[in-house]
Amino acid sequence: MKKFLSYLLPVLLCIAMGWIASLLQTSALIEWYPTLNHSPLSPPAYIFPIAWAILYVLMGLSIGSLISRGDMSLVKLWLFQLLINFLWSITFFALRSPFAGLITILILDVAVLTYIIYAFARRALAAWLFIPYFLWLLFATYLSGYIYINNFDSTYNAYAQTAPATATKSITYTLPPLRYAHDALAPLMSSETIDYHYGKHLRGYIDNLNRLIVSTPYEGLTLDQLVVQSDGALFNNAAQVWNHTLFFDGLTPSQGEIPDGLEHAIVRDFGSVEEFRRQFTQAANSLFGSGWVWLVENDKGELSIITTTNADNPLRRGLNPLLTLDVWEHAYYIDHRNRRADFIEAWWGLVDWEQAERRMLHNQQ
Ligand code: MN
Repeated sequence: MKKFLSYLLPVLLCIAMGWIASLLQTSALIEWYPTLNHSPLSPPAYIFPIAWAILYVLMGLSIGSLISRGDMSLVKLWLFQLLINFLWSITFFALRSPFAGLITILILDVAVLTYIIYAFARRALAAWLFIPYFLWLLFATYLSGYIYINNFDSTYNAYAQTAPATATKSITYTLPPLRYAHDALAPLMSSETIDYHYGKHLRGYIDNLNRLIVSTPYEGLTLDQLVVQSDGALFNNAAQVWNHTLFFDGLTPSQGEIPDGLEHAIVRDFGSVEEFRRQFTQAANSLFGSGWVWLVENDKGELSIITTTNADNPLRRGLNPLLTLDVWEHAYYIDHRNRRADFIEAWWGLVDWEQAERRMLHNQQ
């Protein structure tokens, strides 16, 4: 009985700590985390709670295997790493600070490795039970580092120009109105998806943009100018506002036929509408990680399909976007979980062809 309790109590403690941590993470996981640039290696969001639940049990069993033999020597170190693990949920998610989170997880890596080394000397089982946790932490450290570098370090964007155009007065960027009700696209796109994707994620980018732009040389620039000229976190948020505005503008609850001008150009440049649709779907399915698929028009009026990663936008390559599909996981996880192909299929039923044609600068019809 004592042996059983020495396993059970640490496992229960871990599960309780993990559960409290997950509660602290909830709002950040819904509103903030899906809007960040993630590593292409990042697993679908639903994997994380499953992985953590398993790892917490193993973590409890590990110290239990020592306590059951009356060995209390690693209990303090074990409690320390559990506390740091909890602190990581607070710094990264509750405080939404990837930098503090990265520092915390690095400390956790060292603490867990130290535990494993000492545990090996006492009972190999206790060490082995910690190995999956350690490997997962190394992966999480990489994911955290990627998030920090690609969202909060302003030096990474290779396209950026140096001198911004000058503007005279500041602009407050606002949520672009939808041309349809939140529930109008159902069942192809649920009102819950619109509530989150439009109401929380897009709003989050707009709030970030308004906050980041204060006292920078970019104040007062239009969204188009920002997308072409800014870089770093400011670019990420400005471009995500631009991209989402086109994405939501390109949806309609009452889809019509493709208008003649657009159809003429599609047939001319892709051979047929079916072939265009096939190529676009393939591009969307094979885009690795987070990004966007675009139907664009060049300065000669020729159409092509391009993909961009994270927040990147065709305006930076001198192309005119007509239509875009958001293939960030946050665009489809509510309605389709991890099934991007289902989301793409549903999206075809919502495309506003008239809106796409209105954006053409070289309509020869
Ligand atoms: Mn999105």
